[in-house]
Amino acid sequence: MKTGAKITVRGIVQGVGFRPFVYGLARRYGLAGSVRNDSLGVEIVAFGEAGALDAFVQGIRQEHPPAARIYELHVEPMAFEARDGFAIDASAVREERFVPLSPDLATCTECAKELFDPNDRRCRYPFINCTNCGPRFTIIRDIPYDRPKTTMSSFAMCADCEREYHDPADRRFHAQPNACPVCGPQVRLLDPSTGSGQAAAGQEMACEDPVGKAVEMLAAGKIVAVKGLGGYHLACDATSDEAVGALRSKKYREDKPFAVMMRSLDEVAKYCVLDETARELLTSVRAPIVLLDKRAALIEKAAGPGGPALQSSGHAALSKEVAPLQRRWGVMLPYTPVHHLLMAGAARPLVMTSGNVSDEPIAFRDDDALERLRGIAEAYLVHDREIRTRCEDSVTTVFRGRPYVLRRSRGHVPEPLRLPLRAPKHILAVGAELKNTFCLVRDDMYFMSHHIGDLEDVKTLEAFEDSLAHLKKLLYVEPEVVVYDLHPDYLATKYALALEGVERIGIQHHHAQVLSCVADNFWGDEAAVDERVIGVAFDGLGYGDDGHIWGGEFLVFNALESRRVAHLDEVPMPGGAKAIKEPWRMAVAHLCAVFGDGVPALGIPLTEALDEKTWDLLVQMMDKGVHSPPTSSMGRLFDAVSAIAGVRQAVNYEGQAAIELEYYTDPAVEEAYEFGVAQNELGRLVISPRPMFESLVEDVRRGKPLKELSTRFHNGVAGMIVAVCERIREAEGLETVALSGGVFQNRYLLGRAYELLEAAGFRVLVHSRVPANDGGIALGQALHGAAVLRGRE
Ligand SMILES: [Zn+2]
Ligand SMILES: [Zn+2]
Repeated sequence: MKTGAKITVRGIVQGVGFRPFVYGLARRYGLAGSVRNDSLGVEIVAFGEAGALDAFVQGIRQEHPPAARIYELHVEPMAFEARDGFAIDASAVREERFVPLSPDLATCTECAKELFDPNDRRCRYPFINCTNCGPRFTIIRDIPYDRPKTTMSSFAMCADCEREYHDPADRRFHAQPNACPVCGPQVRLLDPSTGSGQAAAGQEMACEDPVGKAVEMLAAGKIVAVKGLGGYHLACDATSDEAVGALRSKKYREDKPFAVMMRSLDEVAKYCVLDETARELLTSVRAPIVLLDKRAALIEKAAGPGGPALQSSGHAALSKEVAPLQRRWGVMLPYTPVHHLLMAGAARPLVMTSGNVSDEPIAFRDDDALERLRGIAEAYLVHDREIRTRCEDSVTTVFRGRPYVLRRSRGHVPEPLRLPLRAPKHILAVGAELKNTFCLVRDDMYFMSHHIGDLEDVKTLEAFEDSLAHLKKLLYVEPEVVVYDLHPDYLATKYALALEGVERIGIQHHHAQVLSCVADNFWGDEAAVDERVIGVAFDGLGYGDDGHIWGGEFLVFNALESRRVAHLDEVPMPGGAKAIKEPWRMAVAHLCAVFGDGVPALGIPLTEALDEKTWDLLVQMMDKGVHSPPTSSMGRLFDAVSAIAGVRQAVNYEGQAAIELEYYTDPAVEEAYEFGVAQNELGRLVISPRPMFESLVEDVRRGKPLKELSTRFHNGVAGMIVAVCERIREAEGLETVALSGGVFQNRYLLGRAYELLEAAGFRVLVHSRVPANDGGIALGQALHGAAVLRGRE
């Protein structure tokens, strides 16, 4: 029977090759009709045999291009009309209405093939792309998403490119960044040693093939700055101790791990333990950095993976300087044509780390980047396609077969998370301070921003303001409500409080954190926002309702309210912010709480190294409460244990002491240290680390190996989580536990706590799509805002 249908598709369906896909599918099923973009997505009318139409609709759902996201697909029956073939109606309606935009997409397989095909006109062209791949978010200046509104506007297409662009059957039909060697952007290699005055970046190196020359330099152990999709990378040979060591010392990044780019999944498998989820992540259009267990990494051996065996198979070991004292390598596959060319030429893994000094935001504007990377890179591989929006690589790992995102940025943004709670008004959630991201909400779409960075200075605040203005424009969001963290010193909070003409809603740090975990796992319908859940929020610091620094918290909460039901006992942070940089201070504070005046006589390396003057000074500070804010932080407890165990007394980056302590865990160790739990006068459970410290000090005195100390501590914390949750379950009748906060980036702790909670009959929520660290907080804030507004309707 011949019939017809009007099919409307909502979601990310523009700029991702959707219409050519529909065209091909219609022809496959012998259907007539047309497809066009409309102001909300794509509209299709199709006519033909009923069975073929059904198969066609099924095909749209199941076979759509990898970058497309279908939110809604609506089929409306129509009477049969006789039409001539299937047409793409290119004259899209261009009302000024919101259309979801695509994130940047990794180079597709077809483009990668053409890139190395000597007969293709784009052979070795570093900017090859099509509707299935290439830059999007990072080049968009304004909407609607059309070439003149992107940083490709200055390149006029040649006749060949123009023909592809207008041919509905072509893979490059309406590919806005379409380009070729004749008409598109070009790469150049600059020599910074020749820079002066106006041409501070240096002169162009005379060479036929800038990428080839860069490869030569990388192979010779040089550091090359590479302009990529969302910013500059610093690249060097990951198998060379000299090259990686030089990069480390020049970048002032003493221990922080570097990401490594590898040629193929096969190469990754030589160095890392790879499962199905990790394979999918690495090869996805998002192409994130994936943290994967080092193959054959032994905790006793600080050497690179595999050693001789790898070398004999033709794969050199990665330099141990790449990720010292880490159990995992951070690995990604090439995701732009420039990367593909570099990797094919270098034929070895390359370090690809953000082009910045220390913890500054990634460099992305040419003049700024080249100035900042001076003295680090020995050549700059640049190009003339401008990056509109800085966007760092996303970072993820795998937990129990699901992605576990640690940084949600390039490849994700500006794709929204869709939650079942619709916001009646536009909302802005400004996020926290460290690893800041913000969130804009319209309807049921929660748009998390790209990674902004640590919002601690004017430079990052400017990046925050610029990104906010840009995303508001692209997404047609004009916030009427702003949600903020209660910390009065956060720049994001100050920004929110200074906004005029908007309603302001504050929410406590850890409430927003555990709520972000619920949002990440949103189940069922809207009613889930009312369900009360046990939240375990373990992080470095967050401003508490009582003005103290919290961070080892058990909350009973829903989207509207939260109640602190248990927390780690407070100790002073002697020296305030200094105690974060110097974990030995937290060790002294905790030991003091347990052993009092007996600390100097404990006879462990930490106290032996402590001179009398320092000890006196610290005790006085803590006694008088000078520069010693009280804290219940779990992150700081990890720091203290790390220092006492002898792992690290001072850190070069946030969380280092805890990360290195995790390095020494060993699943074969079953014993656990004890924690005490007692109810205080407010009816809250207060968790005492006293018995844990007594055993730890005893074990250090006896010279127990590090893996015993570390694992017993981790097991102890996991056991304590379950014990406290069981008491809360008894009192409140709650079965669901959400694990959130930066401490849960610790895979050993997360895994252990999950298993024990599950065995005790709890339903456990962990993060997947947004980070457990402060980078996810804006989502919890936003959901809270939406819940408050709904409550009023
Ligand atoms: Zn492509
Ligand atoms: Zn061209």
